[in-house]
Amino acid sequence: MVGLGYDVHRLAEGETLVLGGVVFESRLGTVAHSDGDVLVHAIMDALLGALALGDIGLHFPDTDPEWKDADSISMLKRVHQLIRNEGAHVLNIDSTVVLETPRLRPHVDAMRKRIAEALGLDVRRLSIKATTSERLGFVGREEGIAAYAIAQVEF
Ligand code: MG
Repeated sequence: MVGLGYDVHRLAEGETLVLGGVVFESRLGTVAHSDGDVLVHAIMDALLGALALGDIGLHFPDTDPEWKDADSISMLKRVHQLIRNEGAHVLNIDSTVVLETPRLRPHVDAMRKRIAEALGLDVRRLSIKATTSERLGFVGREEGIAAYAIAQVEF
């Protein structure tokens, strides 16, 4: 089965930028109830979607104090456990982060390692790509960051 995930977070000064479980040096960070890791959030929604298990809003409500400033990698581990409980496993994940700055490419392998470890997945089965929005729209104005993910899960 295939699942799709998409997430957006607003950017603001004085916030931390965490992507793929890696903390970035950045003037702007994401505004969120959790650590605002849009990439991991998109991947979680793709994984949940593949098994029709709802979405992260259902499993990690932003009204729940347990998830205040939560580490998204630990949320991802929780999602992985849900998948295992269904008797399923992850085949592969592809993803794209859309942002203007900073440059992600030098950090992609560190991000892949963090996420693959959380899922017990061979790193070759996890792809992270990055693109800018060519200065267009909310991403182009550096008002936010978006991420897309697709996951293949089988029983
Ligand atoms: Mg999110």
